[in-house]
Amino acid sequence: MILYNTLGGTKQEFVPHEAGKVKMYTCGPTVYHYAHIGNLRTYIMEDVLEKYLRYAGYDVLRVMNITDVGHLSSDADTGEDKMLAGAKREHKTVMEIAQYYTDAFFSDASKLNIKKPDVIEPATQCIPEFIEMVETLIDKGYAYLAGGNVYFDTSKLDNYYVFGNMNEDELQVGVRDDVTEDENKRNKNDFVLWFTQSKFEDQALKWESPWGLGYPGWHIECSAISIKHAGEYLDIHCGGVDNAFPHHTNEIAQSEAYLGHKWCNYWFHVLHLLDKRGKMSKSKGGFLTVSLLEEKGYDPLAYRFFCLQSHYRKPLVFSFENLDNAVQAYNKLIARIAKLDANGEQPDLDAAKPYQDKFKEALDNDLNTSLAITALYDVFKGDLSDATKLYLIADFDRVLSLGLIEAAQTQKSQSAPAADLDVAKIDELIAKRTEARANKDWATADAIRDELKAMHVVIKDSKDGVSWEVEQ
Ligand code: AMP
Ligand code: ZN
Repeated sequence: MILYNTLGGTKQEFVPHEAGKVKMYTCGPTVYHYAHIGNLRTYIMEDVLEKYLRYAGYDVLRVMNITDVGHLSSDADTGEDKMLAGAKREHKTVMEIAQYYTDAFFSDASKLNIKKPDVIEPATQCIPEFIEMVETLIDKGYAYLAGGNVYFDTSKLDNYYVFGNMNEDELQVGVRDDVTEDENKRNKNDFVLWFTQSKFEDQALKWESPWGLGYPGWHIECSAISIKHAGEYLDIHCGGVDNAFPHHTNEIAQSEAYLGHKWCNYWFHVLHLLDKRGKMSKSKGGFLTVSLLEEKGYDPLAYRFFCLQSHYRKPLVFSFENLDNAVQAYNKLIARIAKLDANGEQPDLDAAKPYQDKFKEALDNDLNTSLAITALYDVFKGDLSDATKLYLIADFDRVLSLGLIEAAQTQKSQSAPAADLDVAKIDELIAKRTEARANKDWATADAIRDELKAMHVVIKDSKDGVSWEVEQ
């Protein structure tokens, strides 16, 4: 497989440390608010990468942290802890906020068919590991204490700007304009490994440490959690491109200083989802969530399809018009699959092979998901039996995870209802209910919904009209 590696800034052949095994780390969400669909673009593309590696035969270990402490409002260690700001906003405790938004994140991820990583570790569960790492960095001369905080000394490194293909201005994207330099720092890029109470009086979560009561910096979390679960050698580290600097740059600095050798070989960064205002961001507010899409009648998997249609290394512009186009294409695809009928036949595996090769070729080329979708459409063009087509679609969907077979089956069961269902009667009742709703006669509308329910028919209102399905 060829992957673009931000480290080096070129496409490179992917070779893991240990043959057949991949150790992968993903920066997890900062759980002070809902994940927006931009964050989820990153998690969708990382999910495809993980699933493709598995599809290609690798044994994958994927680790993800949950940032529930230490991520300040500026990536450059200034401002308030985002978690504390979230707790104040909602008049809850930090841990209540963390639990609520962690659950919300996994619920959204599951609606998008994003698999849970093998290891999920909240930062607050790893305080001893962070302290041990900071102590070692001090012992090795890479860290110093100033004004009560422990800082990493970037002047001790030969090359701090490891992602050399970006210029310094671009590298500052994650940082807010109103950053005031921390006077304790010896060098501009030094960053905090451990904060003590000297910094924020009202910090909610604090732990005892050799440097006083305090809490960890954001960057140390990912290094320590990755090393704890994936060991000293990591194959792929993933994240959104805004994480490349300073977060990932700092992770590399401290991990390699701690370990004394190269840590991670491949850096996989997903470009941003943009809206009219630029990068979709939690702190700017006004962002879109999976629940909002659902309220507007969109199937979350249609959003996944929208993401897969473009390459992860290009910014993706979100608009409802663009999403509507993806919805149409997705629905058409499902309708075409629903017309296929395997009739109990076996697939022809030899005939399927060239199609699988084309699919793999697309993903082997820097995870080109849009070409992989073209490979999926090719299945319909080919002279294949329906059984072989269905086999290939299910096979590709192990990676794409668009719920294709399930959605097609649901559609089939709707268009071919059980013999004892009186479809004419159902249509008549739905028409009557639509009329009642138009007249704002909610009582009649509700009564009809109940009557349908008694017939085990469930109706769903969406912006495209009313649909129904038989209750399972
Ligand atoms: P956060 O919850 O803010 O720590 O971010 C979670 C993940 O989403 C990180 O990998 C970010 O780099 C990524 N991310 C943030 N904003 C966007 C965006 N607009 N588009 C794509 N990924 C993003
Ligand atoms: Zn991280």
